[in-house]
Amino acid sequence: MQSELEQRLAELRDKGLYRRLRVISGPQGPRVLLDGKPVLLLCSNNYLGFADHPRVRGAAAQAAMRYSAGAGASRLVSGNMTIHRRLEERLAEFKGYEACVLFGSGYLANTGVIQALAREGEVVLSDELNHASIIDGCRLAKAERFIYKHCDLEHLEWGLRQAAGRASLIVTDSVFSMDGDIAPLEGIVELAERYDCRVMVDEAHATGAIGPGGRGAVAAAGVEDAVDVLVGTLGKALGSYGAYVCANRTLAKYLVNTARTLIFSTALPPPTVAAALAALELLEQRPERVERLQRNARVLRSALAEHGIKVRSETQILPLVVGPAEAATAACERALERGVFAQAIRPPTVPPGTSRLRLTVMASHTEAELRDAARVLAQAVRGAQAEVAPSQFDESRAALVA
Ligand SMILES: *Cc1c(COP(=O)(O)O)cnc(C)c1O
Repeated sequence: MQSELEQRLAELRDKGLYRRLRVISGPQGPRVLLDGKPVLLLCSNNYLGFADHPRVRGAAAQAAMRYSAGAGASRLVSGNMTIHRRLEERLAEFKGYEACVLFGSGYLANTGVIQALAREGEVVLSDELNHASIIDGCRLAKAERFIYKHCDLEHLEWGLRQAAGRASLIVTDSVFSMDGDIAPLEGIVELAERYDCRVMVDEAHATGAIGPGGRGAVAAAGVEDAVDVLVGTLGKALGSYGAYVCANRTLAKYLVNTARTLIFSTALPPPTVAAALAALELLEQRPERVERLQRNARVLRSALAEHGIKVRSETQILPLVVGPAEAATAACERALERGVFAQAIRPPTVPPGTSRLRLTVMASHTEAELRDAARVLAQAVRGAQAEVAPSQFDESRAALVA
């Protein structure tokens, strides 16, 4: 048995797909100690610097003393505390919805909600580049699946027609986690209305990052009324852990009664809830942090362009597509040697041949840091390309223009 696992690990190594855990010491700031070495952090989702903000950390510490370290039970047994209710009310108001339900994580929210809403005899329609938690939710659901081409409204409509009245749910990321592009929400909600089915949007990378006051892509498009289910995580811009689902009151009650990942899992610990509440307050008081985040994204994008690297994305997620897995890993190691940390992202997280350094900026990076990083990254990627056989590159998918 043991040797079989070792052999499978060796196969992963051969394909350049082996993964290992790196260790950060100290807080999640724009610079961190990675395996003991100081580096500029360019792959954290702590976009607004709330995870390491003194007020957020203080709120978590106070909540641990005032409530408890843990919630002690699932929410339907005895784990539902006043602080959970308060955060749900604040999030519903922030997102412009009637109701909100907290979940243990974004992964649990997506798997639980899709399983609850896409039932036997129905069809769930999902973008091919949706997050793994959405893919797994679709797999868990009893409904049939239709996977439409990335952001392709014609293909989606074709799927809706094929479903012949059985379509119950369209699900999409708003900001795609590995590409940083934005779903065509207006078109999606229009199709949903025409074919009479629900829309679920995952705002994991949009909340706190884009839209008016960081309210996300749904608010930016003004389609709150037409998006039936809005999912977001507390683990990214909001600097904590956990997730939430906004909906109308009936749908929220339905989820409390049917979402297995809510029913059969312990409620979020009070310190993580308090941290998210403090972060949400900071976001409402200091919306200029969101502007700084997007300005930093523009700075890094144009600095990369000056070094001949074109990145297709309009958000704080900048995918530097390298191509083969080995080349992405080599580029990551080369950049690390020069003090820049951008983790290589490989299949199955992204399609084969599109391995990349997925760069994410933070509001707390300085322009000088980002310009230096662009130079280091450009050299690292070129060096890695020279190292790995050039024949392995698929020109049409790689982002390098020089
Ligand atoms: C990160 C992410 C999730 C998972 O959220 P967690 O709270 O980290 O479990 C879900 N959806 C998308 C689009 C994500 O990027």
